[in-house]
Amino acid sequence: MEFYKDQLVTATIEDMGKNGEGIGRVDGYTLFIKDTVIGDTVQAKIIKTKSSYGYARLMQILTPSAYRTDPPCAFARQCGGCQLQALSYPQQLLFKEKLVRGNLEHIGGCTDLPMEPIVGMDDPLHYRNKAQFPIGLDKNGRIVAGFYAGRTHQIIPNRDCLLGVPQNRQVLDMVIAHMEERRIAPYDEATGKGLVRHVLIRYGFQSGEIMVCLVINGKHLPHADDLTQKLSTLPGMASVTLNINRTRSNVILGEKTVLLWGRPYITDQIGDLHFHISPQSFFQVNPQQTEKMYAKALEYAALTGEETVWDLYCGIGTISLFLARAARKVYGVEIIPQAIQDARTNARLNHLENVEFSVGKAEEILPARYKDDRIQADVIVVDPPRKGCDKVLLDTILQVEPRRIVYVSCDSATLARDVKYLREGGYEVDRVCPFDNFPMTCHTECVTLLRRITEK
Ligand code: SAH
Repeated sequence: MEFYKDQLVTATIEDMGKNGEGIGRVDGYTLFIKDTVIGDTVQAKIIKTKSSYGYARLMQILTPSAYRTDPPCAFARQCGGCQLQALSYPQQLLFKEKLVRGNLEHIGGCTDLPMEPIVGMDDPLHYRNKAQFPIGLDKNGRIVAGFYAGRTHQIIPNRDCLLGVPQNRQVLDMVIAHMEERRIAPYDEATGKGLVRHVLIRYGFQSGEIMVCLVINGKHLPHADDLTQKLSTLPGMASVTLNINRTRSNVILGEKTVLLWGRPYITDQIGDLHFHISPQSFFQVNPQQTEKMYAKALEYAALTGEETVWDLYCGIGTISLFLARAARKVYGVEIIPQAIQDARTNARLNHLENVEFSVGKAEEILPARYKDDRIQADVIVVDPPRKGCDKVLLDTILQVEPRRIVYVSCDSATLARDVKYLREGGYEVDRVCPFDNFPMTCHTECVTLLRRITEK
C-alpha cells in the first residue's frame, strides 16, 4: 500500500517511542502518532512520509486504550512539557522501565540486565520545586505567563502548572500586575525589544522558602521596590533577584544576578543535610525522589569510611556531601563557579571537612589531576547532563581504575552509550535502578553501578 500526505488511516497503537508518542502499524508501515497511548485504536491523518516510517496527527480516538486516562491538566495536549498525561501512572512507570532496559540492552550491549523495579511517586503531581515561566504578549496585547507549546516559542498562558507548587501562581499574579501597572513590556524574541523575559521560581519543599528571579533584557526593573514589597508579603519569600540577560539567544539565564530583596539564595534540605541554592545553580527539581535516588547512589557506592571518592558534575555538592559522611575524602568537580561557591558553603553548613571542590570541566580537571598527581579513586560518581560524559573523561576514568563507578543519568540513551564504552574498558553493570523523577513527562533518572572486572 502507498501512503501519502493528508491520507486518513486507522491505526492501533502497539508501542510508544522515547518521546512518549504512540507507534502504530498500518499494513506493516510504521506511523508515529503524538497524543496516542499504547492500546488506542485511532483515526489519524498522515503528515509526513519516509520510506520505512511516517508521522501522523491524531484526528479521533475510535477505541480508547484501557491505559488511557483523562489528563489532569487542560493544556496537556498543546503544552510541550508533559508528554504522558493521557497514560495511566502505572503504565507510565512500565513505559519508562522498558525504555531504560531497551537502551541498556540495544545501545549498551547488556544482557541479563540486573535491573531493580522503577521507583515511582505516590502522588505524581505538584512535585517540581522549580519553574521557569516565559513572559510574553497574547494576540490581544495582554501580558501572559505560561509554557511554550511543543517545539515552538508560542506561549500557552498557564500560571498554574500542575507539576509545580501553588506559590507559582501567587508570584506570577504579582509580577504581571506590576508590569501592567507600570507599563513594563515583556521581552519579544522576534525584535529583541522589551524587558521581562522569564520568571524563575524555586520553592524549598522542606524549608518553605521561595526564590523569585526575574530575567530581564536590561539593567533595572522600574519601581522594583514596589514589586519586592508586595512579593515579601508572601509567606516564605526569602530571595528576590534580577538576572541580566541581554543576549538574543534562547538560553534562559544570563551571567549576572543582582539582589533586589532578602538573600541571594534560598535554603532547603535533602534528608538531614542543608543546602544553599543560588538562582544559577543546578538543584534536582523533584526533592522527594532525589532523596530516594541519592540513597541508592550511596548504597551502590558501598562506602566503609576508608575510600577516596570523586563526584563529577557535582552541582552544589549534594551527592558529594552524602558521600563525604561515609568516605575518607571526597573531591567534587563542577563547571558553574556559582554552584561551587554554594558547594563550599554547603560543606561548611553541614560541618563536613573531608571534601574539596574544584571549578572546571570534569573532562579537563580529572585528566589534569591524574597526570600531575596520579590521583587514585576507589569510587567515581558521575551525574552528567543529558549529553552524557565526554570521551576524554571516560578514558581517564578507565586509567584511574576505580573499583566502582556510580553513574547517575537523566538520559538512558547516553547512559547506555557510555556504559558500552566502560564495559569495553573492563567494567560490568552490577545493578541498575530507574527513578521516576519527572512523572507525566517522558524523562527518567537512572542510577547504575559498574564494577571493575578485569585486572591489568
Ligand atoms: N550531581 C548534582 C548535579 C547534577 S546536574 C545534583 O544531583 O544536584 C549536572 C551538573 O553538571 C550541572 O550542575 C552542570 O552545571 C554540570 N556540568 C555540565 N557540564 C559539565 C562538565 N563538562 N564538567 C563538569 N560539570 C558539568
